[in-house]
Amino acid sequence: MASGRNMAGKAQGALHTVPGIERSAAIDRLVVGRGVLRQAAALFRETFGDAPVLLVADGTTFEAAGEAVRSVFRDAGAEPHLHVMPARPRLAPDRARGDAIAALIRQIAADSGGGLPVPLAIGSGVVNDLTRYAAFEAGTPFMSVPTAASMDGYTSAGAPLNDDGFKITIQCAPPRVILADLDVIAAAPAAMTGWGYGDLAGKMPAGGDWLVADALGLEPLDEIAWPLVQDNLRQWLADPEGVGRGEPAAVAGLFSGLAATGVAMELYGSSRPASGADHQIAHIWEMENLTHGGEKVSHGACVAIGCLTVLALFDWLLSQDLTRLDPPTVARNAPDWPTVERAIAAGFEDAVVAERTRQELREKWVEGAALAERLERLKDVWPALRARLSSHLMREGEMRRLLAAAGAPVRVRDIGLTLQQHRQTVLKARWIRRRYTVLDLLDEAGLLYQAVAEGLHETHPLYA
Ligand SMILES: [Zn+2]
Repeated sequence: MASGRNMAGKAQGALHTVPGIERSAAIDRLVVGRGVLRQAAALFRETFGDAPVLLVADGTTFEAAGEAVRSVFRDAGAEPHLHVMPARPRLAPDRARGDAIAALIRQIAADSGGGLPVPLAIGSGVVNDLTRYAAFEAGTPFMSVPTAASMDGYTSAGAPLNDDGFKITIQCAPPRVILADLDVIAAAPAAMTGWGYGDLAGKMPAGGDWLVADALGLEPLDEIAWPLVQDNLRQWLADPEGVGRGEPAAVAGLFSGLAATGVAMELYGSSRPASGADHQIAHIWEMENLTHGGEKVSHGACVAIGCLTVLALFDWLLSQDLTRLDPPTVARNAPDWPTVERAIAAGFEDAVVAERTRQELREKWVEGAALAERLERLKDVWPALRARLSSHLMREGEMRRLLAAAGAPVRVRDIGLTLQQHRQTVLKARWIRRRYTVLDLLDEAGLLYQAVAEGLHETHPLYA
C-alpha cells in the first residue's frame, strides 16, 4: 500500500512524508519535495489516463507555477485548457465563481464531444476551494499543485465558500493527486507562510475544545484523528524562525502538518480535528469581510488571532475552580431561547446570516434541567479535565512567541480590529456553529463575560 504513495521523486532529493496519508481513501498520491513540479504530467496521466486537463489558477499563481506546469504538459504532448482568474482584488471564495468553473468543465466536454476534463488547481486556498467545489459539482476528480503553505485545506474534502454572504463548508472530495513542490511553496510571500503557521497553530486550542467536548460526553476523541494531529502538532510548530525565513526544510514541516490535518478531517468526517472556537472567531471576521490596509484579511491571519484569543481564555479557565459551580442557580439565571434569538438578530446585520446562525445554535442549545445536568457533569469531571487541558495545551504567551517568530499576526490591530470589535466577536462566535467548544462551556457555566473581562483584560498583549 505504501509504495507509490508519498515517495515519488528520486533525482530531486529528499521527499517528505505526511503522516496518515496512507489511510486516505480519497487521495491516491501526495508528493512533497523540491523540484517535483516536473512530474506533473506523468502523475496526471498515471492517475487520470488521457483525460483532458484544465489548469485553474489566478494571475499570480499562474506566474508562480502555472506557466511551468503548462510547459511540462506541452512537453508531454498535451495542450492544457486554461482558466486564469484575476488575482487583484484578492480572489473571493464565492460559490457563484465555483459554479462558473463547473459550467466551464461541462462546456469543454460538450465542445469536444468527449469526457469531462480533470481540473488541476494551481494556487493556494481560494483557487483550491473553488476547484474542489467545481470538480465535485461537475462530477470529475481533480489534482492540486499548492503554491503556498498558507492553509490546511489542500487535503480536505470541504470547500469553505461564501453562499449569500454566509460562510459555509460544502463537503466535496479531496484532490486525488497533490504535487507539492517545496521550491514553489518556499518562494511564496513570507506573509502567506505566516498565515499557514497561524492556521496550524489553531489546532492547539481546537484540541482543547475537543477535550472539553469529550469530557462532557458530547463528542468522544477519535483514536485515529486525535493523535494524528495532536501528537505531532508541537513538532510541526517547532521551527517558527525557519518558517519565518522561508527555509524549504522548515516550510516542509509546516506543509506536512497542514496536509496531515486535512487527512485527519477526511478520516474523521468533519473538521473537528482541525477547527474549534479559534475558527468560529475567524469565520465571523471572514463573513464580515474584515479588511486591513485595503486588503481582505486572510483566513490564517484571522485564525492566528483566534488561536491566541482562545488560549488566553483557556489560561483564565485553568485558574478557576469549577467544582464550586452551583448548577441549579446557574441554570435558573441563564438566558432563555427568545432572549438569545434577539441577541443573534442584534449581533448579525444580515438577515440570512442571522437565520443560519439561529439554526446552528439551536442544534446545541440546552436549558433548564438539561443545562443543570450538564453543569453537574462538568463539576464532576473538572479536576481531571483541568489536569488534562493543563498538560496538553500551550500557554498563550508561548504560542504568541512562536507566532511572532513565524511572521503571523499577534495583536488585534495587526488585522485591523479594535478591542471592542474583538470582544464582541468572542461573545457571539459560539452561535455560528453547532460544534461544542470552550466558549460553550464558559457560557453555559455563566462565566463567558467574566472570562472575557479578565482573561482578555485591556492590558492583554493582544491589545498592545
Ligand atoms: Zn483553517
